[in-house]
This record gives sequence, C-alpha cells and structure tokens, in this order.
Amino acid sequence: MRSRYSAYVLHEFKYIHRTYSRTHSAIPSVEDIADSANDTQWLKLNVLDTQIMSPQGQVEFRVIYKVQGVAYQLHERSDFFFEENQWGYSGGEILADSGEITQPLNGPCLCGSGKKLKRCCLRT
Ligand SMILES: [Zn+2]
Repeated sequence: MRSRYSAYVLHEFKYIHRTYSRTHSAIPSVEDIADSANDTQWLKLNVLDTQIMSPQGQVEFRVIYKVQGVAYQLHERSDFFFEENQWGYSGGEILADSGEITQPLNGPCLCGSGKKLKRCCLRT
C-alpha cells in the first residue's frame, strides 16, 4: 500500500501496474494509470487500519490530493492478495466520505492530528 502510494508520487506507473493482483477484475494498462494520475498532486497518505489473514489482506486508508487546485480525499478499504511473493492489489471499496474536500480550512484536519486542516494535510 505504502509502496504503491510512493509509486504514484514518483510517477512509477509500471510499478503500480505490476502490483495489481491477478484476482483484480479489470487491471488497467500502464497508460491508463498514467492518464488517471498524471495531473494529480499527492499530499498525504494515512493508513487507518491493516488486517492480514494471509494470503489476504485489507488496508483502510485516506489519501489527500489535488487536481487543478481542487482538494479531494479518497477514503478506501483495499483488498490485497499475496501471490508470487508479493502483495497485489485486488480491488477496493471507496467509502462515502470520499470526494471533494468541503470541510473548512480552519477546522480540524481529516487525519485526526488535532491541527487545522490548512496547517496539516492541506498546507499550502
Ligand atoms: Zn492532517
């Protein structure tokens, strides 16, 4: 999970493609991954929960990012499958509070740090 996030930040789209599990229902091409992520400015990853019952694992996380100046959060519960000596991403459930961030910048940050949103994950 963390390595896939890092790969998005570094635009290592081939790596992201390789870390899809064969159990995923619709693995995107490297080009599709690049197209979907090239304009994205990644700001923060928070891993909220991890559960592993090998060969399956589940990670709940929140990612904060911007596209063309607009801030979004993706809150997802991802499924991973251990195969060929690596964890592969097999799918995920996007949770309801995902989407454009509408919380006030002066209010508490989404990550639970206790800081203001504008002084934490949405620092500009
Ligand atoms: Zn924060």
